[in-house]
Amino acid sequence: MALASAAATGRFAPSPTGPLHAGSLVAALASWLDARAQGGRWLVRIEDVDTPRCLPGMDTVILQQLATLGLRPDEPPLHQSQRGAAYGQALDTLRVAGWAYDCGCSRSDIDAALAASGAARARHEQAVYPGTCRDGLHGKPARAVRLRTRHRGIGPRIDWLDRRLGPMTQDVEREVGDFVLKRADGLWAYQLAVVVDDAWQRVTHVVRGEDLADNTARQILLQRALSLPTPSYLHLPLVRGADGHKLSKQNGAQPIDLRDPLAALRSAARVLQLPTIEATGCDDWLVAAVRAWAARGVA
Ligand code: GLU
Repeated sequence: MALASAAATGRFAPSPTGPLHAGSLVAALASWLDARAQGGRWLVRIEDVDTPRCLPGMDTVILQQLATLGLRPDEPPLHQSQRGAAYGQALDTLRVAGWAYDCGCSRSDIDAALAASGAARARHEQAVYPGTCRDGLHGKPARAVRLRTRHRGIGPRIDWLDRRLGPMTQDVEREVGDFVLKRADGLWAYQLAVVVDDAWQRVTHVVRGEDLADNTARQILLQRALSLPTPSYLHLPLVRGADGHKLSKQNGAQPIDLRDPLAALRSAARVLQLPTIEATGCDDWLVAAVRAWAARGVA
């Protein structure tokens, strides 16, 4: 068993767009096991910044699902919809330091600028922002706010070590471009909210699905811009739907079947390649699973 460290803090950060399914349960369970194996705290953060995508009451449904499985947070969950003031303060800090700037580009402005430079590059169907408004709005009204990917000797290349995927690197300028902190519709961007909240909740260990690994360099860049600590990162194998893509509501993920919570935990544990655990109830099973996780020593 790893040495107990009161400072270790893990979190599960679901977006309340639907109930937990087999894929999201893997992230919930692994983040819980990892925190517990270090004798640390485990928190839940409801990521409801993208309000049009969120379903009312879904936070309660998710928390009930977690409780039925024996996964109970150590503090009342934090809701990102309540955190606008903190995100605003972070944005002010970034503006004052010259990291953040207003952008007046529409999607078609960005496509046109990329086509004109012959550099059209699709990345997850998202264009790499060509930096048009870096030096001013050129008479256009401000729409979104973006972060520079290189400033004050920080960026654009970010190297980091994932506990499962190993050494990772991304040139954020070339692969993503100056990215959005506040959207044209006024909503806070996921990258800013996650970085501000991971620091505020003193999260030391981020454990989440591999589909989110690509965001990590942007998040580390933002941490450096805001002089915030960088947690350690572990990106988990994904559960795939029948179409081979990450399991999601769109490809038919069913809510986990809570008539047999132990079976739900066991199938999440198979994805995590934990050994089979003999137990009759969730709580017994979880105690043994913490031991198995610690013994495996994912450092
Ligand atoms: N809210 C994100 C999601 O549900 C997770 C964010 C994170 O773990 O950093 O995909």
